[in-house]
Amino acid sequence: MITVKLPDGTQKSLPEGSTAADLAQLIGPGLARAAMASVVNGTVRDLRFPLTEGDTVRLLTTKDAESLEVLRHSAAHILAQAVQSLWPGTKVATGPTVENGFYYDLDVPNHKLTPEDFPKIEAEMQRIAKQGQVFERYAIPDIEARLAEFKQSGERYKAEILEKYKDSPEVTLYRNKDAKTGEEIWFDLCEGPHLPDTSWLKAFKLMSVAGAYWRGDAKNPMLQRVYATAFWDQKDVDAYLHQMEEAEKRDHRKLAKEYDLFSIEEEVGSGLILWHPNLATVREELENYWRKEHRKRGYEIVFTPHIAKRDLWDVSGHTGFYMENMYTMEIDEQEYIVKPMNCPFHVLIFKSRIRSYRELPLRLSELGTVYRYEKSGTMHGLNRVRGFTQDDAHLFCRLEQIRSEIVDVIRFVDDTLKLFNMQFDVELSTRPEKFVGEIEVWDQAEQALREALEEYGLKYEVNEGDGAFYGPKIDFKLKDAIGRTWQCSTVQLDFNLPERFDLKYTDKDGQHKRPIMIHRAIFGSLERFAGTLIEHYAGAFPTWLAPQQVAILPIADRHLDYAAEIEKTLREQLVRAKVDSSNEGIGAKIRHAQLAKVPYMLIIGDKELEKGEVAVRNRSKGDLGAVPMKLFLEQIQAEIASAGREVVTLPEKVSQ
Ligand SMILES: [Zn+2]
Ligand SMILES: [Zn+2]
Repeated sequence: MITVKLPDGTQKSLPEGSTAADLAQLIGPGLARAAMASVVNGTVRDLRFPLTEGDTVRLLTTKDAESLEVLRHSAAHILAQAVQSLWPGTKVATGPTVENGFYYDLDVPNHKLTPEDFPKIEAEMQRIAKQGQVFERYAIPDIEARLAEFKQSGERYKAEILEKYKDSPEVTLYRNKDAKTGEEIWFDLCEGPHLPDTSWLKAFKLMSVAGAYWRGDAKNPMLQRVYATAFWDQKDVDAYLHQMEEAEKRDHRKLAKEYDLFSIEEEVGSGLILWHPNLATVREELENYWRKEHRKRGYEIVFTPHIAKRDLWDVSGHTGFYMENMYTMEIDEQEYIVKPMNCPFHVLIFKSRIRSYRELPLRLSELGTVYRYEKSGTMHGLNRVRGFTQDDAHLFCRLEQIRSEIVDVIRFVDDTLKLFNMQFDVELSTRPEKFVGEIEVWDQAEQALREALEEYGLKYEVNEGDGAFYGPKIDFKLKDAIGRTWQCSTVQLDFNLPERFDLKYTDKDGQHKRPIMIHRAIFGSLERFAGTLIEHYAGAFPTWLAPQQVAILPIADRHLDYAAEIEKTLREQLVRAKVDSSNEGIGAKIRHAQLAKVPYMLIIGDKELEKGEVAVRNRSKGDLGAVPMKLFLEQIQAEIASAGREVVTLPEKVSQ
């Protein structure tokens, strides 16, 4: 008999050779039916994974988050199997899961897969799924023999993979077997885990197909990568497809054209953004907010140059680990580097004179524009660029100040993302295997980060060992209006730069001590954040950010003068208003303003002119009625000042 532990600490005894499936059976028939995989000592395994004495075992059902990955990876096998059965001679490469789905890289001879092939492939996958073929883990007894077999049958990709692992203690295949006869129908070289059998796959959809080089290397053959997704429930597939559709509609590159937001011009170069007036207005508002909040929260604002001598980047270490991302130039026979980061400059400001403990924490912030080399072909709208502005800050503090500094940064992030009605997830990444600095400092710092997160009451995930070599970090992943997540804010501790630049402060006891350095960004980069906002709002920016806040729509030419007067009044009060003086009818003018997502329209006719009023229309609520101009101005100013919350609620018929 062996004894295993359940997550709640209870122990179960089973006969030697029992599997997780047997354990499920022992616990109860309900669990035996629901279980589809297991987690043994923290690793996700097959349901039929043999257990050993002392194992801690958790049974996975479709309700567990980890179960989707098992489903999707198994679905990848079924996809490859289906393509191979439809196009005999197809060679299979690898089929990992990705966010929201999976893919398989296939070498299909003499046929280019297109979405037209998808129904056929899906039908074949359904057929395989219905058969309930059993996934069986199988340790290869003679790797050399199997390698020879792969080579002979032309499975060159599998052969290459096996070659790589041939010295491993165990290499496994997964065989699909007929549930009744036990006959092997298909197999794939894989370490698993997988579903108990193919019948668990019910809800899936092929998404797209694209070329992909074997091992991502252009010197290798081009394979066909089929992307797909799978969920436990058809309604989740539908919801996902709907989200994808919505994402396509909101694609910021597409909306950029519709609303004249930004462009990337061939003559300038890829990954370099021209901010057109409309998006520049959004950015200006973000920057205004940013500056004001930094002042309120005790930061200093600095400006630093775009280039610096190579020596600086030698000291900071960038020439060692970041050279291929940096642009260099020569001035007066000296090598200069365009800054990929702002940190060394802020470090030098700190170092420009002797610092006392009284000055700490010192918080230096900058909207710093940096340039980083990205491979051509990897650029993507505002999300992946070669030049961008970080809303950067570096905090220099004592070890015991980390916690309160981090709490403040978390509050800053939280306050900011709330403005945009965005939720976020938090991840803490801890000490990796290779690290610089002292282990006690790391431990104290990580402890401070945890305490800060807990003090603020945030739930967070821990990515053990995923921190940078120079310090632990906290990442914030925001969720947009359609539930997608985006990387934005980060807080990164740094034990390396203070060391490299020999930073010191004079402590109470007169001793020189090393400060802790914290890098942090709230928006991340203004480019990426603006791109996220465009998609989040689908172009309909809230009033405080809207490039044009008010469209003044005169009904006839005789109302033009009054319209111009209103425009002037609003503009002088910094409300972004514009008269539509075209000779179109009022219906068309309203339509244009609606399409341009202008938050407010003021319709000006005889009655309004006579009474000194404006007839207010909101882009989402429609007509709000007529009010004195002064009242509208007050309300829209309040709405702008409240950064987002709509307060124009016109009218309790103020005028009669
Ligand atoms: Zn597999
Ligand atoms: Zn930095």
